[in-house]
Amino acid sequence: MVKAIVGANWGDEGKGKITDMLAKESDIIVRFQGGANAGHTIINDYGKFALHTMPSGVFYGHTTSILGNGVALNIPVLFQEIKELEDRGVPQPKILVSDRAQIVMPYHILLDAYEEERLAGKSFGSTKSGIAPFYSDKYAKIGFQVSELFGSEDALLDKVKRVCEVKNVLIEHLYHKPALDPEKIFKELLSYREMVGPYVCDVSVYLYQALQEGKEILLEGQLGSLKDPDHGIYPMVTSSSTLAAYGAIGAGIPPYEIKKIITVVKAYSSAVGAGAFVSEIFGEEADELRRRGGDGGEYGATTGRPRRMGWFDAVASKYGCRLQGTTDVAFTVLDVLGYLDEIPVCTGYEIDGKVTTEFPVTSKLEHAKPVLEVLPGWKCDIRNIRKYEELPENCRRYVEFVEEKIGFPITMVSNGPGREDIIYRNK
Ligand code: GDP
Repeated sequence: MVKAIVGANWGDEGKGKITDMLAKESDIIVRFQGGANAGHTIINDYGKFALHTMPSGVFYGHTTSILGNGVALNIPVLFQEIKELEDRGVPQPKILVSDRAQIVMPYHILLDAYEEERLAGKSFGSTKSGIAPFYSDKYAKIGFQVSELFGSEDALLDKVKRVCEVKNVLIEHLYHKPALDPEKIFKELLSYREMVGPYVCDVSVYLYQALQEGKEILLEGQLGSLKDPDHGIYPMVTSSSTLAAYGAIGAGIPPYEIKKIITVVKAYSSAVGAGAFVSEIFGEEADELRRRGGDGGEYGATTGRPRRMGWFDAVASKYGCRLQGTTDVAFTVLDVLGYLDEIPVCTGYEIDGKVTTEFPVTSKLEHAKPVLEVLPGWKCDIRNIRKYEELPENCRRYVEFVEEKIGFPITMVSNGPGREDIIYRNK
């Protein structure tokens, strides 16, 4: 059976932890989109890890970790992560990389940085990992597939030269930076070939076979619904689809095989980068939530940037769950809210004098004001509780209030960063 684990919000919902937890009963974990621009934080017996490229299941001996054709493959970062696991005593994971995945080229990263510099204050808040230039080239059909590393070297060098001609026009005349040297890039690609060689595989054939054999497969999404290029807060979005539906494409499996869509929803809001964020809070109130949030504060796993903070947004989360096609909600970081006397929840948006509970397009979102309802806090630590009925009454009220507002069943409540910090609810 195939299950997808995806985010309903702006990312950083705790997908890594849920994937790591469910990976225990899985055979295969697949990353199907995105690249090294976001990270998953995972805590287990080997320590605390921020993974940027590898799926979250790499810590189990029995799982195969796959980077599907839909990802933006940064080969040196992947290689570095494999090495870090090795250095820290994690048994060598079984990793497969799709021969159809495309490669993040050195100039994608340069172009991302140059563009951010050019835009200065008007930037999109890119992590400068080359993701937008990468996906632009993929769809402009000037990207490089992993398979090309293993074809004719002459053809590869020729293509690098052709692409560099185009890139150099921008680099020299728009950004006023040194031109790319195609020979140097070609040599780098040859070193990538060495790095990735042992892992390359025809992933869709492998997964087809695995499905025939009844294997358990997890698709692990990056970021969340609101960062989807079609359905998110365009243009403050990422460059590949963050929706479970894309899991079929980015892994190479039939869409009807995805039987369960576990959407991870965070008990409060956080976001990185620019863009409208209706339930955002500021000042001391935000600082305190940021400090107490997640595990060790709400700071970017890749960039270390402080995340923007806000109250739970039922409008955005309901929309995020709907677009994912949610069958189950995993409600995370609930333990963090235990310090609050009262907990505001954003249950509507007021736009031009009218209140709506439907998430609007960006131009309307920009002047939406939050409609807040306030729930009583529970004022205690809930971390070690394992049964739903044992949660304080006000805590259950919060969960059930959120569930009613978003309209999808919360079947898991995460009350701490560890694998065992989870409460299952039968729905
Ligand atoms: P992801 O990208 O969706 O995997 O999310 P991140 O890794 O960026 O952020 C989740 C952070 O919250 C990590 O530091 C997790 O260890 C932590 N986390 C996940 N679930 C919980 C939870 O239920 N409670 C607490 N306190 N932290 C959690």
